[in-house]
Amino acid sequence: MLFGTRALLRDTPWSQWRLRALQRNEAMSHAEFAAVQASLLHKTLRTAIARLPFYAHIRRDFPVAASVDVLRAEFPIIDKATLLANRRSLYPNGGVKQPWQALGATSGTTGAPLEVFRSVQSVLMEQAFVKRHWAWGGYHDGMVRASLRGDLVADTAVTKPPFWFWNRYNRQLLVSSRHLTEANADAIIDRLEALAPAMLQAYPSTAFTLAGLLQRRGRRLHIARVFTSSEPSYAHQRELIRDRLGATIMDLYGMAERVAFASACEHGQLHVNADYAYVEIVDGDGRPTDGEGDVVGTTFHNHAMPLVRYRMGDRSRWKPGPCPCGRVFPIIEGVSGKYLDAITGSDGAPVSPSVLTFAFKRMDQIRKSQVAQVGPASWEVRVVPLPGFTAFHQQYLIDIIHRMVDPHVLVKVVLRDDLPNTAAGKFRWVVNEYANNNVLQPPGNRPE
Ligand SMILES: [Zn+2]
Repeated sequence: MLFGTRALLRDTPWSQWRLRALQRNEAMSHAEFAAVQASLLHKTLRTAIARLPFYAHIRRDFPVAASVDVLRAEFPIIDKATLLANRRSLYPNGGVKQPWQALGATSGTTGAPLEVFRSVQSVLMEQAFVKRHWAWGGYHDGMVRASLRGDLVADTAVTKPPFWFWNRYNRQLLVSSRHLTEANADAIIDRLEALAPAMLQAYPSTAFTLAGLLQRRGRRLHIARVFTSSEPSYAHQRELIRDRLGATIMDLYGMAERVAFASACEHGQLHVNADYAYVEIVDGDGRPTDGEGDVVGTTFHNHAMPLVRYRMGDRSRWKPGPCPCGRVFPIIEGVSGKYLDAITGSDGAPVSPSVLTFAFKRMDQIRKSQVAQVGPASWEVRVVPLPGFTAFHQQYLIDIIHRMVDPHVLVKVVLRDDLPNTAAGKFRWVVNEYANNNVLQPPGNRPE
């Protein structure tokens, strides 16, 4: 199956054709594009009504031009809790995945894990949208790239290079972000310098860690673009990354539910890809607002499980005015949602929250979790367990963190009845109670 999926994702005349079609959209006039968008929304809504019992009472015979009105009048805003509570009516086929559908899953770090069924078509489209964004930064298939994300390239027990893997089919160097420490920095920097990649894919936190290691060595790399995603990026991070990597940062906002996709253009503006999903920003009463509000999205391409007016829990606001890049897609402010502190590992170096997330994948017995730094090289993992969470899972969490994240950090698992939100109503999955009590964090490091 994995091999089959990889073969599908390879560059083919079809994938080139899909990419070209998307590239035509961004250059359209507002009127031309509005027609394309209404037609995409119309298709999604009609599919949702036909396929999902939750919407079966809505009439299907409305015209394309009425799509937005029907969306707002007939479709309630839903969220993860709605999906979990209504699996039989909001999932296709009574909640049973068909063999030809792909399964997407969230890690359940800020709540219960969530499954999403995906069509093969939507998996291919996702790739095309990513490649369109790459093209905004001047990166094209076949150019050399490096990746500094959560890939399991080398076990944490490995202490000698290589801390990377060269994937020659994709011309991609996968670097182990778990090995991005003072002890290994020179080897990793030398390898990247020799490779001279045209782009680096990274989390903001891992690119920032690399930039810090370069700074402490008085070194610089020359990588034209850094494509970041999966975490909010802060101004102090972007500044150091630009300085030490010489890079234009091209940030991407997306999620496992795939109901919104926003990508930064070469002018640093975050464009909502309005041919990917229908994105709304709504106030507390669910009405569209020009002020800050909840991001709500409706898929255009995953007809296997059409999510309609799905609220992610992220907040943003529309930014008026055209962008100098001339693209037809509207602009939003940076998205805030995941509130994460920086925590450090056994050697005092920062640990990427995204890397930490990997340890919690497939932990189905957890309702909610939180990782807190409580002392130097000491973490407390707080778990709100679901039935079936046993001493075995408790030990497994400790082992997997040691294997995947940091072999020497002290990990204690503590069971809780609940993990409340902060006074501001936000939930922090990663919290540094030790640093917060002991030193002042630089501005931007503490999003609240
Ligand atoms: Zn732009």
